[in-house]
Parts: sequence; C-alpha cells; structure tokens
Amino acid sequence: TKFVYSFNEGNKDMRSLLGGKGANLAEMTNIGLPVPQGFTITTEACNDYYANDLKIREEIINQIDEKLAQLEEEQGKKLGCEKNPLLVSVRSGAVFSMPGMMDTILNLGLNDISVNGLIESTKNERFSYDSYRRFIQMFSDVAMEIPKYKFENVLDKFKEVNGYQYDTELTTEDLKKIVEEFKGIYKAEIGEDFPQDPRKQLMLSIEAVFRSWNNPRAIVYRRLNDIDNNLGTAVNIQSMVFGNMGEDSGTGVAFTRNPSTGENKLFGEYLINAQGEDVVAGIRTPQSIDTLKNDMPEIYDEFVQATQTLESHYRDMQDIEFTIEKGKLYILQTRNGKRTAKAAINVVVDLVKAGMISKEEAILRIEPNQLDQLLHPTFDPKALKTAEKIAKGLPASPGAAVGKVYFHAEDVVEHVKNGEKVLLVRQETSPEDIEGMVSAEGILTARGGMTSHAAVVARGMGKCCVAGCGQLRVDEAAREIRVGDRIIKEGQYLSIDGSSGTVYIGSVDMTNVEVHGNFAIFMEWVDEIRDMMVRTNADNPRDARKAIEFGAEGIGLCRTEHMFFDEERIPAVRRMILAEEVEDRIAALDKLLPYQRDDFYGIFKAMDGMPANIRLLDPPLHEFLPHDEPSIQALAKQMNIKPSDLKKRVVDLEEFNPMLGHRGCRLAVTYPEICEMQARAIAQGAILAAKEGVEVHPEIMVPLIGTVNELKLLRPLIENTVNEEIEKSGVKFEYTVGTMIEIPRACVTADEIAEVADFFSFGTNDLTQMGFGYSRDDAGKFLDEYVEKGILEKDPFQVLDQDGIGKFVEMAVKLGRSTKPNIKLGICGEHGGEPSSVEFCYRLGLNYVSCSPFRVPIARLAAAQATI
Ligand code: PEP
Ligand code: MG
Repeated sequence: TKFVYSFNEGNKDMRSLLGGKGANLAEMTNIGLPVPQGFTITTEACNDYYANDLKIREEIINQIDEKLAQLEEEQGKKLGCEKNPLLVSVRSGAVFSMPGMMDTILNLGLNDISVNGLIESTKNERFSYDSYRRFIQMFSDVAMEIPKYKFENVLDKFKEVNGYQYDTELTTEDLKKIVEEFKGIYKAEIGEDFPQDPRKQLMLSIEAVFRSWNNPRAIVYRRLNDIDNNLGTAVNIQSMVFGNMGEDSGTGVAFTRNPSTGENKLFGEYLINAQGEDVVAGIRTPQSIDTLKNDMPEIYDEFVQATQTLESHYRDMQDIEFTIEKGKLYILQTRNGKRTAKAAINVVVDLVKAGMISKEEAILRIEPNQLDQLLHPTFDPKALKTAEKIAKGLPASPGAAVGKVYFHAEDVVEHVKNGEKVLLVRQETSPEDIEGMVSAEGILTARGGMTSHAAVVARGMGKCCVAGCGQLRVDEAAREIRVGDRIIKEGQYLSIDGSSGTVYIGSVDMTNVEVHGNFAIFMEWVDEIRDMMVRTNADNPRDARKAIEFGAEGIGLCRTEHMFFDEERIPAVRRMILAEEVEDRIAALDKLLPYQRDDFYGIFKAMDGMPANIRLLDPPLHEFLPHDEPSIQALAKQMNIKPSDLKKRVVDLEEFNPMLGHRGCRLAVTYPEICEMQARAIAQGAILAAKEGVEVHPEIMVPLIGTVNELKLLRPLIENTVNEEIEKSGVKFEYTVGTMIEIPRACVTADEIAEVADFFSFGTNDLTQMGFGYSRDDAGKFLDEYVEKGILEKDPFQVLDQDGIGKFVEMAVKLGRSTKPNIKLGICGEHGGEPSSVEFCYRLGLNYVSCSPFRVPIARLAAAQATI
C-alpha cells in the first residue's frame, strides 16, 4: 500500500486519504501556485498506527524515509545539515476540518549543529536561535506533553530581569541562554537529552500528530460536529518558509470574501516580520490586508491573483494562509472558509448569479439548521468573548435573551408591565406559567428535555429557551438560583443563548441579524425545487401569520389546549373539569364555545384558503388544575366551593402515568360533550370566515388513537355536529376528519384506521415516547449519558430514530395506503422541523411536514435538499 504521497501526486478529490489540508496542498501544487513542497502521510497510516498498538510499521517508515530523501534532493537541503539545513513543519490534516483541535510542530530539524547551518544560510543569528527555542518549546509540548508553562516561565523570567515588554526584545545572547535552559527542562522532564537526531524528531512528531486525533478536545469537537471517530488524521510534512526574516517577510490569513457578511471583497490580515503563530497569539496587532497594497505592491497583486484562482477553482469562498519570505510569496493552505449563515447565503446567491454554481448546488451548500441564525437575534460575538459562562443546558429554542430573573409567572408579568426586560426562571414550566412565558424575553429551566413543556411552547412562540440546565439549583420559594458557590437573586441579570444552551451572568450585548434580500431570493429557489409541502404548528392567528411569512403552506397542528390557559378562560375550563353532572359540564362548555369559535375564526382568516389542521383536546385534565395547597385554597374561594371538595377532585384526577393516562381521544370517549363543543366551535368559526368570503379547509384531528374503534365512535359525533352547523347556517364548506398516529398499536393497525380516517398525522413525540418507553418529560436525566456511551446516536426526541421509530412510521404509511391509497399523510411531532427527519419523511412519501413557525424555512430547505 502507498502510505505517503508527495504533494504533486495527490489532488483535491483525495480528501479521505490525504485529509483536507493534504488534498488541497496537492491541488494547489497541481495548478501551479507557489506552495512550499512536502509530502502527506495518509489517514490509512494513522489508522494502521492505532491498529498496530501505537507503532508505525516498518513499511510506512521506509516510505517516509524515501519521500524525505526525495524532498531533500529537490530542495537541495538536508535535515540537520551544518551548512544549509532543511527545516519542516509537521501538521495534522483531518478529512473534515477541525480548526485548532489537533497539533502542529514548526521548525523541525533544528539541533545544536543545524542551528549554525541556519545562521550560515540566513545570515541571521538571532532569527536562528529564536527558531530553535520555538522548536524545542513546540516539540516538548506537542510531542512529549511537557507542560507549556514551564517554558513560558523561562521567557517571562528573561523579560522581567531585562525589563522587556515583548518577546521580540530578547537578544541573541538571551536566546542562546534560553535554548540551554529549555534543553534543561526537557532533560529534567523526560530523563533524556533533547533529541539531536532530526529523523528521531520527525518520527516522534508524526506519532504525536497521530495521537492528537484522540486528544480530548478533538473527541469533543467530533461529537459536536458529527464527525466519525474512525477517520483518522493525515500528517503533512512541508518544508518551512519564514515570515520572520526581516521587513521583506511576513505572514497572514485572508478570506476571499467577508466571512461575516459574504461581501465580495478580500478580507484578512497580516504581520510583517512574523511567524504564523504570532498572528494568532495577538501579541502584535495585525494589519488589514488592504495595506499590503502599499507595503508590497507586487506581492499584493500576486496574492490577489492567487486568491481569485483558488476561489474560481474551488467555486467557493476560500480561507487562505500565506507567508512572504524575503520578498517571495508562498501559499501554505487553502480551505473552504467557515462563515455565518448570512455570509453563506450571500455567497451562494452571488456564485449562482456569477454562473459559477447551479441553484441546486447552492441549495445543497447551506446547512438547514444554520438558517436559524437568520431568524433570531443573537449575542454580539465581541461581547461574548468577555462574557462569563455559568452553566449549560439544552438549546431548547434558539435566539438570545437578556433579562432580570424572576421565578414566578405573575412577577414576570408585573415587571414586564413596568417596562423591564425579564427572564422567567423555573424548576420547570407548567401550563400555568404561560402568561409569564409570553411576557418574558426568554425562559430558563433547570429540568425537562427538548420536548418538555417549556421547550415546545417556547419554540412555538419563537422565544429563546434554555431547558434542563441541571447545574442550576432553582429555588423558587427563596427566589434565587444557586450555581456552584454563587447565588443569583431575583432581579439580577442573566443572558441565555437558546442556540447553544449557554447561560451567562449579567447582561450581554445583542445584535439584530437583519435578513438580507438574498435570503428571500435563495428561499425562492428552494421552493422551485422542493416538492413536499411544509406546514406549521400554530395555536393562534399571530403565530400562524408569522409562519406564513416564513413560507408555511398551512397549519399541520393546532393544539387547542393551548387556547385554554388564557386568564379569561381558565375559570370556565376549570368549571368544566370540576363539574360533577353532565349539565354543569355542558353549561361550562357553553361558556368556552364562543372563545374557541373566535380562535378558529381568526385562524381560518389567517390561513386564507390554506388547510388548517385542528386537533381536539389532548392533555390530561389535571394539568388545568392547581396542585399546591395555597393555590387550591385560592381557587376554591374564587369558585365558591369547599376546598376539601376541590382537593378531592384534584386527587381523583391525579394519575401515576399521566402521559399514558386519561388523555387524547380517551377524553372525548368519556366526555363526548367536550369533543362536540370543539367540533361545533370549529364549524362555527369556519362558517363565520366563509361568510366573509374566506376559503376554509378545516381538518379535524383526533389525537392518540390506539384502535380503530375509538375513531369509529368519535367520527360520527364530529360529523353530525359539523353537519348540523352547516345545515343551520346554509354555508357550505368541505372538511375532513382524521387522526394522529402516535401510538405503536395505531401504526400496526393503520390499515384498519385508514378506512375511517381521511388523513394521518404522525405524532412522533408520543410515538418516540411510547415506542422506546422513554418518558418525554423525564428522559433528559439519562439520554445524555446514552448518547455519550454510544447506546444511542442521537437524542431520539430531537432526531427521529429512523431504524426503530421510523419503521413504525413506514409501516403505518404502507398499511394506511393499502386500504386508502390517497390518504393524506403528514408529521407534526418536533421532528417535522429537523433536517434529517424531514429527509426521511420525504423518502416515505409524506405529503407534508409541520413544524414550529421559526423552523419553517429550515424544513423548506431540508425538503428541497431531499429532492436533489
Ligand atoms: C406528538 O406527540 O408528536 C404531537 C405532535 O403531539 P403532542 O406533542 O402535543 O403530544
Ligand atoms: Mg402527542
């Protein structure tokens, strides 16, 4: 096997073997750019090293020696030579870029002899000793794991003793002494002299880069970015060029376009007389690339030419590292530049307009989840650099929020009325907190997962939320948060980032990311290519309108219970629940009917001809009642009933497993009058809207069907009620009646159910809960560990488990279509806005996906990508 490639033997399509950096160095060599030459040791060699008990096999060593000899020959220099020594850099190069995660060693090849050779060839003694001490420092840190501070202490001592401020003030004599002290540290730590043999230096460095594949930060980075642990890294050995050889030398980094805005203008910085790490270390302030035009006009022109060549060659924005050595330009690296969502959109739209890529390519290049950034305010990256993190929870609903913390919904409402910005902080939220959630800038909870109440409701509202932040001890009674040894009291500021789950102390500045016109153009292309519909989960006209702005093509789920928590209505809801006799219940329902009718009327108006899927009441009734003693007392007084009677009813309704309890269609079976009231309200709302000339398409959805017999009982009740209203009003409209498919038994018997249902909507939240047997409200406690230990690849409440839960969906699709070929199919669980799940739905041939308003553009893009 060939394990080592010279740069001129590879090309850009060999990433998986040569790594990104190696493949691009090869490609740049091929297109004639000035690249310092070298060779790449393949990722296969890295994997072989791991398979071979952390040893590099003879065969590979021989190939390295061969390429090294060839490089020495070409360069006319030799490693360790006393006259004209070859120096090389050793750098990692993974298949997918992992910036800063793995190791680099520069100036390799220096020793007590070759340092003289370097002096001779460069005529620069100070530079030569400075290079030597840098090499000892980097080699010791990276290859031998000697703590960095030991070396830094020495440098600091020299600076202090001599009254220097910068490393650049160290004299040649200082550097000579430093080299000796560094070698002393090495010997004390390792028990051997610093290796003088350059080949030994090289082999130890190559091994170190192989090992750095599995350093903790690389492992974490791969987990966060979904990179396979088995890919391994390549190692690039490249002859050194020096940007620190005087005023005619320098080094820098540039992007072919602005990575935050996408503006088509070279963007970057450089330092004269400096080596690569000086730019990063921030010791001196680099200059903008523009001024290179004045400093070195010819080099500037040559560089601009090279950047243009690279951009048109790769047909994407490039991030390029360069070095100027004594008036000669070298390109050290190029890669596709990392960019913000805004820049990403602007770049692809520009590239399509310039005829460089097709619309399809543009669409495939945007990561759907990245669009989130365009739809929510975010923290100012500058402010974040100095912000203090205090905890991390789940990124439950994206965006950024800053506010004073309050622990009770009423307090939030009150302080917001006073014009303050407020965060609602709770152990976990419950439906009673809804008004506090609406008023707050953002929501922070200590418990609960990605589909907890706080998370679902916040996403629906497009409100920033960090949930399940277990490091926080939220003491609602004492009105304070304890985290570590710190106490945050009511009224103090926190800042939360719902896109990362991070919690910061104090108030962090925000930027409002404006949506550039190119975003709209891009989304038009998305819609040209997309052929699966995207709807939204919305419970009120405001959210529905927002979703339509974002491109929703209907409502896929209106959770009617969310309409029940309103301050004005909740008394009637409670009276309905507490009614002992049917008559009392009907009287309470009569009070609710007009509210619901108005809600539905508003929704039909907002949808203006698009379909609206309205689901009948789903949650267990006890969710609408208070549970603690003071609230029970207060409610009893308000309702004019005995506290003991109220308590008894609360206890009656309590369940051990409410999620498996008296909820969903089971409520409609035992209290048909609730179902009837809602069906009537839907019909009346539709009639009101239709009378104003609005086209209405109600889809009435029964939740939590487990057997067809439930639907057989309920469907006629719904139809009779709606038909009665239609006849009474004389206004005609079409409507359909269907069901959620969210219980495994419903999937298995979907052929029977389809005979009675006009449509299915997959409730993958409950289907995941019941399919796995994981409580959606409690699973947060162990799911992280499941993912960490590799038992599950992803949190199945976030990303649909295609192998298991997906099979249920697939089966239900097949069975449903076997008895009703044209049955309308959709999904309304949280997965409806998650790109890989959207793609899965497309493959199964669903008619639509439905997601919260702020995810609609993401789902549109994911759906378009699925078709390409
Ligand atoms: C579901 O279960 O997937 C669903 C959409 O319903 P809910 O989240 O309201 O239970
Ligand atoms: Mg459900």
